[in-house]
Amino acid sequence: MTAVEAPVSHLHENPFDIARAQLRRVAETFDIERNLVDVLSQCKKAVEVSVPVSMDDGTTHVFTGYRVTHNIARGPSKGGIRYHPDVTLDEVKSLAMWMTWKCALMGIPFGGAKGGVICNPKKLSRSELERLTRRYTSEIINEIGPEKDIPAPDVGTDGSVMAWIFDTYSMNKGHSVLGVVTGKPLTIGGSLGREEATARGSLFCIRDAVAKQDGRLDQMTAAVQGFGNVGSFLAKFLHEEGAKVVAVSDSTVALHNANGIDIHAAFAHKREHGTLRGLANAEEITADELIVLDVDVLAPCALEQVITERNADQVRASIICEGANGPVTPRADAILEDKGVLILPDVLANAGGVVVSYFEWVQGLQEYFWKEAEVNAKLNDIVSRAFEETWETAQEREIPMRMAAYGIAVRRVAEATITRGIYP
Ligand code: GLU
Repeated sequence: MTAVEAPVSHLHENPFDIARAQLRRVAETFDIERNLVDVLSQCKKAVEVSVPVSMDDGTTHVFTGYRVTHNIARGPSKGGIRYHPDVTLDEVKSLAMWMTWKCALMGIPFGGAKGGVICNPKKLSRSELERLTRRYTSEIINEIGPEKDIPAPDVGTDGSVMAWIFDTYSMNKGHSVLGVVTGKPLTIGGSLGREEATARGSLFCIRDAVAKQDGRLDQMTAAVQGFGNVGSFLAKFLHEEGAKVVAVSDSTVALHNANGIDIHAAFAHKREHGTLRGLANAEEITADELIVLDVDVLAPCALEQVITERNADQVRASIICEGANGPVTPRADAILEDKGVLILPDVLANAGGVVVSYFEWVQGLQEYFWKEAEVNAKLNDIVSRAFEETWETAQEREIPMRMAAYGIAVRRVAEATITRGIYP
């Protein structure tokens, strides 16, 4: 047997340990009762399923999938489904916990959940991806539902995957169930503005932060790590607001141009070639170099743990916008805090996606669909209000934005839990 180099996971630390340690710190700062912390430290339910798939070459491959509900005190659980080779149960648990805080901070009536399948979607054909999705959906069909747990896209999944989930669920129920999943294509009950919503929410947070600092976005430079759903639209929006986006990256390459990357050309190049590699008028840099570029805004919009104690002290940005979930580790957080970097935490900065998912769910339940301007205006209201609450709490208590955001959220979930009482 030849030795095959094992791919290195992006997870250097156990993300669920990180999420639980964050919760304990928040509980101390906000004086949350020990018994409640014990309840909130655990996920309500974690389901592991095997997903056998007939591959195009005639073989059968058995994938492993998860669906985790962290908490439902404030409403049905909500959260994306991730297709990625590095997925682990503890990663899905941490992401589910962060969804609980995110929905609570936004004040939308959901708890937190997440799903994942260990696979490399880039190496699967479209029909393999469809069979995998339909079988995974069948395996978790009793866990999901419009009043129970509502999936959405995450890393490695998109509108097509949501369409197959919607169809598989609906075929089994015998009628179309619009509210079972969000992030659906517009043709089958998706919401206008959902695709760009995460990035739009990130932009609103950056805009509000820059205003607090009496700065001007159109005089700022930015580096955006990740060119998936969040990073690509955020780069576009920043460019449209007059900021100079000097660096972008995807999983294959990082690119820099001090005069600004041509974002429209980057979109076109990515669509045509499936990668940013080869984009004209930009020089290749390393992924590590992108993180430490001399820019005003750094937006990590891909996976967890890209800013760690290894590179945090070299970061030169004054604002970090967490388009991804968990891109800054707690040790890096502490270093950045000492340096005075303003971190817009994930549960605030990337919540635009789940907010418009909430709108999509409401529209689906009512079978009444809104105009895009209405969606964007309501998104602005919710995100700006959450930003303001987080900012004020951070100022009053002299704590970082992350601690403030988690504190507001955890308190809301704790209150709901106390009000409902522990069953029986
Ligand atoms: N996966 C996204 C997130 O992490 C969206 C979740 C949703 O819309 O339910 O927030």
